[in-house]
Amino acid sequence: MKNVLLLKFGELFLKGKNRHDFIKLLKTNISYKLRDFVFKLHETQGRLIVSDYDSAFEDVIISKLQQVFGLIGVVVACEFDTDLETIKDNVKKVDLSLVKTFKVEVKRADKNFPVKSMDMEKELGGILLDEYPNLKVDLYNPEVVVHVEIRINNKTYIYSKAYECVGGLPLGSGGKALLLLSGGIDSPVAGYMMAKRGLKLEAVHFHSYPYTSVQAKEKVIELAKEISEFCGEIKLHIVSFTEIQEQIHKNCDAEYMITIMRRIMMRIAERICKENNLGAIVTGESLGQVASQTMQSINVTNSVVSLPVFRPLIAFDKEDIMSIARKINTYETSILPYEDCCTVFLPKYPVIKPTIKRAEYLERKLDLEQLIENAISKEEVFEITNF
Ligand code: ATP
Ligand code: MG
Repeated sequence: MKNVLLLKFGELFLKGKNRHDFIKLLKTNISYKLRDFVFKLHETQGRLIVSDYDSAFEDVIISKLQQVFGLIGVVVACEFDTDLETIKDNVKKVDLSLVKTFKVEVKRADKNFPVKSMDMEKELGGILLDEYPNLKVDLYNPEVVVHVEIRINNKTYIYSKAYECVGGLPLGSGGKALLLLSGGIDSPVAGYMMAKRGLKLEAVHFHSYPYTSVQAKEKVIELAKEISEFCGEIKLHIVSFTEIQEQIHKNCDAEYMITIMRRIMMRIAERICKENNLGAIVTGESLGQVASQTMQSINVTNSVVSLPVFRPLIAFDKEDIMSIARKINTYETSILPYEDCCTVFLPKYPVIKPTIKRAEYLERKLDLEQLIENAISKEEVFEITNF
């Protein structure tokens, strides 16, 4: 008898002929996530099983698995060769000392096993009632379900406790995209959400040193580290925006400052995508949150790129975004008080309904190609790993 971890995957079942590729990817991601441990990972009868690990690390391994996209649950199961007497012995080991109500659920995939599921349930339930005299059976709303699975490979699994995982789709199954990562609350959450749908991320951050501080940059590296726990390795491009901002400030209308900044950020983002084979851009915009996130503003920024731009937070309230930020542990870092480049030269009255025509007119006063070229040629790249 030994403890193993049974891994449950969610939507993967829906994926028909892609299923095999998804599971392969999931296995790669799990193996990578658990690379510091000794363990075995195998697939039997549509399920992944982690076994042969050091039980001292069971809790850590479970908490790491809880962060793997594509998994919906982990259960700690006791695994042994199928045998009626052994099942009876092992069911007694389920700890129900803190529980008031329970039921036993038997699944008998191995139809050669001589006792029917219903009869097994009654018998095993009886054994547990003898063990715990204060316990009661509740078939409809039990506190704990004791699962007994008798499988066709002559193995039986008993388990009662499940740990919830993040769900979603395996990292990388949806391709690769570039996250515009500011130091704020929203963009790390946006990255997390898109990675949860299977996107592998790279990230770009624009900073305006010396107008913004070194700490502002470090904060973004820290945020990238924090989301990397879920999102895997992240290549982070840090691009200086100082010259661009100075030029916009000098040459363009103040009210269009942020609109034009955003358009240039998008253009640079698209360049980075093309150079790194990334298929989409991700931002943390939310409709109406600020002047640069009105429908008209989004239209004007969007019009300079041809790649799809994913905005998973578009319909989210700030409160909802904050609660996800807390759940994924980015909130505390996000609220550190280091200024973002968007706060430098911030106009008092940013335009709320910009037009493409006006933005294009103002941009003619800039040597866009040269500015973009300069910025990209000086980018710094960090490989962030905290998966
Ligand atoms: P966040 O909390 O993500 O900073 P925000 O509410 O401050 O968002 P804006 O400053 O309008 O909103 O930024 C909108 C989006 O533009 C951000 O979510 C992010 O994707 C991108 N962005 C803004 N500033 C930067 C930056 N300095 N570097 C990279 N991307 C940025
Ligand atoms: Mg911001």
